[in-house]
Amino acid sequence: MTKTLIRGCDALTFEGTKPVFLNAQDILIEGKRIAALGKSGTLGEAKKVIDAQGMLAVPGMINSHAHVPMVLFRNAGPDLNANDWFNKVIFPLESNLTPEDVYWGAMLGMAEMIEAGITCVADHYFEMDQVAKAVEQTGLRANLAWAVFEHQGYERFEQTLEFVERWQGKAGGRITTWLGPHSSYLCGPEFLRRCAEEAGRLGVGNHLHVSETREQVTLSLERYGRTPVEVVAEAGLLDHPAIFAHCIYPTESDLELMRGRLVGIAQAPKTYLAMAMGLADLPAYLERGIAVGLATDGAVSSTTLDLFEQMRLTALTQKDKAGDAAVMNLDTVLDLAFQGGARALRQEALGNLKPGMLADVVLLKQGRAAAQPVNNQAANLVYNLGAGDVDTVICDGQVLYQHGKHLTLDLDEILKEVRSRLPRLMNKDLEKKIAEYPA
Ligand SMILES: [Zn+2]
Repeated sequence: MTKTLIRGCDALTFEGTKPVFLNAQDILIEGKRIAALGKSGTLGEAKKVIDAQGMLAVPGMINSHAHVPMVLFRNAGPDLNANDWFNKVIFPLESNLTPEDVYWGAMLGMAEMIEAGITCVADHYFEMDQVAKAVEQTGLRANLAWAVFEHQGYERFEQTLEFVERWQGKAGGRITTWLGPHSSYLCGPEFLRRCAEEAGRLGVGNHLHVSETREQVTLSLERYGRTPVEVVAEAGLLDHPAIFAHCIYPTESDLELMRGRLVGIAQAPKTYLAMAMGLADLPAYLERGIAVGLATDGAVSSTTLDLFEQMRLTALTQKDKAGDAAVMNLDTVLDLAFQGGARALRQEALGNLKPGMLADVVLLKQGRAAAQPVNNQAANLVYNLGAGDVDTVICDGQVLYQHGKHLTLDLDEILKEVRSRLPRLMNKDLEKKIAEYPA
């Protein structure tokens, strides 16, 4: 078994939900797992040594909701509200995508995530065989869901079931697959019930958008006399693992419905700020023990696949929303950023640097002027360090990135492929394509 010794770093670990920073540590990785963590010099030797003096080791970050290949359309629809953004920009552009485009978009997005210290992503998109191939190649870990709309019909839905079976446990166990009904507003109660039944049969979860905007809640009440959370709960989706993307507008009774269930809420405040969607009241989830993970969403709405930004914005926006600087304190936001995603994805062996955990480890440099002096390591991590400080990224025991170089992908080749596709991809042919889509 390959042994790797990370030598001399500081390390972020967790005791329960509480972050604990340790100084001058060695981390021993054997195969895919962390074998030991202890005072530097006490863990013996290994053939492969990574000198991490002055660096901070953190658990690989978990992106609990993304549409990775959308990086192809980065910055394509700025300054638009959600409905216009979706109908006038995203749907027409996405209709230009071929499976190969999705592959190259996934590769670019995965390069970006690796550079930002993300080792695991819950991705929700189309042509997911292409995304799975990219995961296999880049060495990342992923939970993949093939997004499906009700108007595409049950035949398409059944193809997504085949995808779930085709890729479950592949890439040496780094890939897990769930179902991906798009949302509670583009999939009706009957369709969602099928998703719950199939999730039960396959032993998987569902990943979907729920209660993203006030309008969606109003529409759901008009259509079904029920909130979006009530609709998905009645359909049985809370009886299986689930990721609810955004879920900004649950009612008090919706929150009670989610209490004690296997649901994780994915939060991407940069998207909410950019699209003026409002903010979730996160303490209300946390008080009820509902799992909350951080997410990037797609790069068209949030511009980057960077969880450092989302972590910082989560802390700042929640303080502002509550009118209380004590809300979303350092302990809470670090727990959400590193362990919350693992809880949301039901990945118990991720989110912490402890013996027995999977070896998803990120080393951060702490030398920039803006990150010195380190008077408070927790505050430094939340407010001062960022994607630009990532030095080394390890996933499943494999080094994916070190000292600014990718070891599993060729970024120049990816950029060349992406650029060659842009003229065709960015052709919107708007009126025609809007007419083809159901509102
Ligand atoms: Zn989304």
